[in-house]
Amino acid sequence: MNPIAAPLEDLVPEYIRHFEAYIPSKPDDELKKLYGCDPLYRLNNNENPLGPPAAARPIIEHFAAPGAAIYPSGDAYHLRRALGEKFSMNPDQFLVGNGANEVIAFVIKAFCQEGDNIVTADKTFAVYEWIAEFSGFSAHLTPLLDFGFDAEAMLNAIDKRTKILFICNPNNPTGTYWNREQLINFMDRVNGRQIVVIDEAYCEFVEQEDFPDAMELIRQYPNLVVFRTFSKMYALAGLRIGYLAGSLEVVDIIRRTCVVYSVNTLAQRAALKALNDDQHIIDTRNHIRKEKARLLPLLKKLGLKYQSGEGCFVMIHLPMSDTLAYRKLMARGVMIRSMTGFRFPNWIRVSIGSSQAMTAFVKALTELIEQTSQ
Ligand SMILES: *Cc1c(COP(=O)(O)O)cnc(C)c1O
Repeated sequence: MNPIAAPLEDLVPEYIRHFEAYIPSKPDDELKKLYGCDPLYRLNNNENPLGPPAAARPIIEHFAAPGAAIYPSGDAYHLRRALGEKFSMNPDQFLVGNGANEVIAFVIKAFCQEGDNIVTADKTFAVYEWIAEFSGFSAHLTPLLDFGFDAEAMLNAIDKRTKILFICNPNNPTGTYWNREQLINFMDRVNGRQIVVIDEAYCEFVEQEDFPDAMELIRQYPNLVVFRTFSKMYALAGLRIGYLAGSLEVVDIIRRTCVVYSVNTLAQRAALKALNDDQHIIDTRNHIRKEKARLLPLLKKLGLKYQSGEGCFVMIHLPMSDTLAYRKLMARGVMIRSMTGFRFPNWIRVSIGSSQAMTAFVKALTELIEQTSQ
């Protein structure tokens, strides 16, 4: 083997040298051994406890092996047609990716060059910030206001090199949202100078009348890009499929940065069926509503402050370090998201799981709180 002539460090860009890799959680079997727990309830990733929509299940269960040898549709042809139909848009206004995570990279690659930056909140889904930074662009982060995105602060953070503004609506992890009026007002003030991304990963959970129809607003605002995913409401997280929508002119640009074949055949077929299973949305919303109504009074009884809005998750403030709480809850068979990484030290985020999982969570949390107050 030939040695590398230069020290490896010399090959690595400055912004990669200082970037820390994200460490995903270990598989369940390893975690059960490590923490001595069984069962283990995962309430860390906002997965849908109802599982995939009934309409998509036969597709997943009966995927025939020879299909695995064939490349998928490179541009999710049928799914984009179905999306066009559903939202009364042109199929070419959609780009499908390997999870919404992949389409974040498409947009950043399409619009940012050396010296450019993006603007988003400091306490939101961190992937916008991460992809910008490990691609060599800076992320201007604005503090939340009352747990929500602060439009004024974001507008003030824009400079000559700002290309993209990312808004998570409703916000993960706080559950706050901009209503139609707030979003329109923001779009008017941006006035087409930047690309505005509205990440609607949780929009299907929202039941509020004034929640904006961002797809509809694309007609009015050609610089608006909307993200959606099949991972949360549609419970296809393991298949990895999400998409973006925008005006034809903006999507034509973003398409240049797409990697074809990144979305597998099964994901495309399952998403196509899941898309119009409205009963699944009704059932999921009912479940989330019921479990939140059971959880929140119990948190109150424990004397814990919480932040609960739209979406399938609740944030809880603890009288101890969230990383310690993570380990103690793991030992009791419940995995939550510790929030130090989201810049919310001493907070945890718990996903609304099955009734059984939520009962296990409340029991474990109660023991934890009683133990620390002794
Ligand atoms: C989960 C999530 C995504 C991306 O999910 P994918 O599984 O990559 O489709 C995007 N944005 C937010 C806010 C999320 O919570």
